[in-house]
Amino acid sequence: MSEVEVHVLASGSKGNCTVIKKGDSVILYDVGISCRRIVNGLKDLHIDMQEIEGIFISHEHSDHICGLKQILKKYDIPVYTKQHTWREIQDKLMVPKEQLIPLTKGSLTLGRLTVEAFSVSHDAADPIGINVFGGSDKVTILTDTGTVNDEILGRLD
Ligand SMILES: [Zn+2]
Repeated sequence: MSEVEVHVLASGSKGNCTVIKKGDSVILYDVGISCRRIVNGLKDLHIDMQEIEGIFISHEHSDHICGLKQILKKYDIPVYTKQHTWREIQDKLMVPKEQLIPLTKGSLTLGRLTVEAFSVSHDAADPIGINVFGGSDKVTILTDTGTVNDEILGRLD
């Protein structure tokens, strides 16, 4: 059985984008670089953009979402984020409403990957980090958190 793979296409103040993959299930966490860079980065990993099952957005700052509008113009990929973040993105980017899906439940399973969002401290509407479970593997992805509290530490166990 394949393991969960994490590939960072970009990270830092100039843009963030992470690919999480297990077998044929692939998701993106943040799309803060251009659509072209993401498509090319995926190509290097032998992944086609069409294979992405969902995009998770941590928060609405442009270094986490600037590729989103272009991606949604070209591809029919659902985007998951918290309700308040969803609203901010809608206001900023005017992306089609039906492609944005608010994360209301505790966790969400897409193919072989289960994503669980947790709140982090950052100056945004409702920023999150994610835990991704695939079989017996667990990966935690956390960016831009101001402070690491006990709840967040618990998530890293
Ligand atoms: Zn930020």
